[in-house]
Amino acid sequence: MTTPPTLAVWKFTSCDGCQLTLLDCEDELLALAGRVRIVHFTEATSTVEPGPYDVSLVEGSVTTPDELRRVAEIREQSRILVTIGACATHGGIQALRNFADIEEFTSIVYASPEYIETLSTSTPISDHVPVDFELRGCPIDRRQLLDTLCAFLAGRAPDIPNTSVCTE
Ligand code: SF4
Repeated sequence: MTTPPTLAVWKFTSCDGCQLTLLDCEDELLALAGRVRIVHFTEATSTVEPGPYDVSLVEGSVTTPDELRRVAEIREQSRILVTIGACATHGGIQALRNFADIEEFTSIVYASPEYIETLSTSTPISDHVPVDFELRGCPIDRRQLLDTLCAFLAGRAPDIPNTSVCTE
């Protein structure tokens, strides 16, 4: 009997909306669960298994030193890495900080800004590690997400245009 491929879902700086799109797939997820082993998806299950992972879905942008470290680790552990949503593919709304003074922001928002560990920029995952496919949108489209997952699990490239009217 062959071992089913493993799927891991990771969160970086984001609102969780793209992970919710995956959870919203309900019936399709049940069918998918028969074909893959979901080994890391903290939004949905407490199961956490060590890598390597066949397919990793990454939501969110890189905004902290810890995320810089994590993204490299996840890339190393993932055969295929797919970024999901505008935060992961372009830095998200939090990238507004890229045009401002982050120290001024933290001093306005937090009573003790010296405890805040943050980068001065919000950057897409592809700025830091190679990405196999970018699924764009805010949030991502449910059908495109399922198509992408099915394609990679079947060992083929997704049949989805890698452009959008908003960004290109
Ligand atoms: Fe939320 Fe949009 Fe970012 Fe997805 S792309 S995590 S919906 S803000």
